[in-house]
Amino acid sequence: MAPPDLVPDIVGEILLLLPPDDPATLVRASLVCKPWRRLLSGRAFRRRYRAFHGAPPLLGFLHDHYAHGAVASPRFVPSVSPSPIPQPPRRLGPRRRPPDDPATLVRASLVCKPWQRLISGRDFRRRYRAFHGALPLLGFLHDHYARGAVASPRFVPSVSPSPIPQPVAALGLGCGYRDWSVLDCRHGHVLFDIFGGTTSASPYASLVVWDPVVGRRHSLPLPPIVCWLYGAAVLCAVRGCDHLDCHGGPFLVVLPALNFGTATVMQVQTYSSETGAWKFSARRDLRHHVLRKPSTLIGDCIYFRLDSASTAILRYDMGKNRLSTIDAPASHVFKSGFAIMPMVDGSLGFADIRGSQVCIWSKNVNTEVSAGWEQCGVIELGTLIPESRNRACVVGSVEGAYVIFVNNGVGVFPVGLKSGRVGKISKPGHYDAVFPFISFYTQIV
Ligand SMILES: [Zn+2]
Repeated sequence: MAPPDLVPDIVGEILLLLPPDDPATLVRASLVCKPWRRLLSGRAFRRRYRAFHGAPPLLGFLHDHYAHGAVASPRFVPSVSPSPIPQPPRRLGPRRRPPDDPATLVRASLVCKPWQRLISGRDFRRRYRAFHGALPLLGFLHDHYARGAVASPRFVPSVSPSPIPQPVAALGLGCGYRDWSVLDCRHGHVLFDIFGGTTSASPYASLVVWDPVVGRRHSLPLPPIVCWLYGAAVLCAVRGCDHLDCHGGPFLVVLPALNFGTATVMQVQTYSSETGAWKFSARRDLRHHVLRKPSTLIGDCIYFRLDSASTAILRYDMGKNRLSTIDAPASHVFKSGFAIMPMVDGSLGFADIRGSQVCIWSKNVNTEVSAGWEQCGVIELGTLIPESRNRACVVGSVEGAYVIFVNNGVGVFPVGLKSGRVGKISKPGHYDAVFPFISFYTQIV
């Protein structure tokens, strides 16, 4: 029904009587017709309204919203519906959300569509990584053991609900496969080693690369090795890529293998998803094999863990196609495990646990001159993680984020090497090695 045809002065006098503590009436009045909206929006009416009531209308209030514990995010609660103003910018913009607590970033992306677009944008990703050094940690993959020795990789999300599906469900390998395990995870790709597939073209082991964000599965042909002990790394194959969003792109698999018949020669095979073929790359006399632990990429070099207390690290230089080895720091205790990672100055980082302390070391690997390890930090774990009868071990790290994972049987704790901040992202269990999945992917499944 059309509004009554009243002269503006009379309408203004009536609208002035609308109470400021019930602003919904004022908002609804502004929706009646354009002349009323113009009148209510006019400077003269506003001035008279405040003179009459002593204050402008209450549109709502702001407060710090706490969800899932202690994380605060400012929120506007409107007193009318729909909200007359958009959600406000936060005291801390999303850029400053810590990468070792990605739940805040995922939740920020859920606030509203403009925020989701902002956080999903390339510019924001670039600025975020420049600020934090790494993309957000969405969780980790590990080999889950149940009822003995049967392994199946499992994803442990650091946010809830999980941003990617479980590999067993996504790859459909829940039955018919005796055993499979995760070998590596980098640039949005996860590498699995699958044994005993009864429905595969091959009855033996096969390697599969899974891109959980785009849902792509790529089965590799069998590598040209028989009776070898091997580990492997997966990485984006695009030269000059900033790795902000490598999903769906080409990848490389670098596979160092030791013939356990002779146990004297280590050789590297490289697979390219673009050629679909393996290529022999390099070899070196060596008596140690690569452990199935997370590798580390620094520049053109991939670093693998070896099964030796002293000759602990294998380095493969992809640019020079050269294999070399690196000893652990002299005082390293093999049983505590260790993680390797890139440091901020491009050196190789090494973190292990001695007693109740995380010890951090670095070594210059940018020159041909052999440099020694230098201790560059200590973190006292005593009060940071719960007590346990089990020995605490380093079981992984996040490339570029200066975060290591410590497992003491109570759970897996990400430990920020710069911040000293400790979180917890798993239940108690058996975690030999954890492979972090870092990405800006924020779609909740
Ligand atoms: Zn890339």
